[in-house]
Amino acid sequence: MRRIRIALGSEDGINISPTHLGMAEKFHIYDLWENGDYRFIEKRVNRSPQERKHADPEKRKAVTEILKDCDLFVGRRLSPNFVKLRDNTRFQPVVTEIDTISDFMEELRNFFPHLSDLVKRRKEGEKPKEIPKISKPLKLNHIYGPVPSRRLGFSLGVDLVPYKTCSFDCVYCQLGRTTDKTVERKEWMPTGEVLSQIKEAIDSKGRIDYLTFSGSGEPTLHSRIGWLIREVKKITDIPVAVLTNGSLLFKEDLREELMAADLVVPSLDAATQKSLERVNRPHSSLNIGEIIQGILQFSREFKGRIWLEIMLVKGINDVEEEIEKMVKIVRKMQPDKVHLNTVVRPPSEEFAHPLSISDLERIKASFGQRCEIIAGFKGEREEAYVQDIEGDILELVQRRPVTLSDISHSLGLHQNEVIKYLQVLEEKGKVEAHRFEGRRYYKPGMG
Ligand code: SF4
Repeated sequence: MRRIRIALGSEDGINISPTHLGMAEKFHIYDLWENGDYRFIEKRVNRSPQERKHADPEKRKAVTEILKDCDLFVGRRLSPNFVKLRDNTRFQPVVTEIDTISDFMEELRNFFPHLSDLVKRRKEGEKPKEIPKISKPLKLNHIYGPVPSRRLGFSLGVDLVPYKTCSFDCVYCQLGRTTDKTVERKEWMPTGEVLSQIKEAIDSKGRIDYLTFSGSGEPTLHSRIGWLIREVKKITDIPVAVLTNGSLLFKEDLREELMAADLVVPSLDAATQKSLERVNRPHSSLNIGEIIQGILQFSREFKGRIWLEIMLVKGINDVEEEIEKMVKIVRKMQPDKVHLNTVVRPPSEEFAHPLSISDLERIKASFGQRCEIIAGFKGEREEAYVQDIEGDILELVQRRPVTLSDISHSLGLHQNEVIKYLQVLEEKGKVEAHRFEGRRYYKPGMG
């Protein structure tokens, strides 16, 4: 197995010396293996002479003698000696801003193939100009994905509100119960920070087919969503989609803000106040008449595409009279598509059951040509799936029962992303969900 030997300066064996490598009092030597394992080898005292002048060649020579079996020299700063090492020796310099040895070694594992290639080329006599910089990845807490999605391809999710801040508390919500039911529009997340994270993600995340404002609640509650969409449009051609429950579209300022989006996917799960209250459990100030008028008005004004999503819950909003009323609304609205969905992911409430595929097919016929069933039934797969993430989730579940939020925090993945993996793992029988004191816990399954 391939191995790289690493030298870094440290006085206490915990932190990397905040100076040039040659100035450290002690060197710590580690081996990093191709499979990501790493091991401390030994500590060596830096017996090289005090630097008489900057980039002293005598000092460089003495340090390379002490570290002659090492491949990688790690420093906190790019010193002139590092440039000379790069241009004249077989040693590969690396610079890092990471403070501790353990964090650095963890991060270094991700760079093994690239560093190993540089080391090999040097051993063969080449002198590559690159001095890699190892940094901690920027934490993108407002961004998740790209998540493979049937409708939007690789969709980069943008989260604009704190977890479960929503004007609804839908019985089918896959995120659990709403903890902050509100209609207050305000800057729930720092807009500048969200924008810089979107920029960072566009530069670093590979294929993105859609930038999707959705996330941990209702994105239109963010009062600067319009500004954000317009700013995003200045920096990228990637289309912007907004997934909304549609409850606030009666507000003229919000409709205006959404005009810059390419695609808006509003939901409409009810045609009567009774159904709205049963399925969406809205904020007390909301009423179905206003919601429907808002959605209709928006469809008249919006120049982009609109896909209307209708989520049907067995025995709650799937009765014939309700469907007939919804069909009439859809005729007036003329959306580009109608997406019929049902409860295929673990819902907030256990009494929220899915419709059968044959019921959905029957209802689909009433909505006409533009209607599609988008519910992903058992056995269907998303386009891409990362086996490593599946393994990480299984490892957590095997240690102790965990909630969706535990998994999301432990793995640094957004809950919406984790949900997709859990759904597949449940189908395979590898995890099982259990309710305890109102919370859903995941345990190893029998599969
Ligand atoms: S499904 Fe959407 S609208 Fe309904 S409670 Fe969950 S986040 Fe809010």
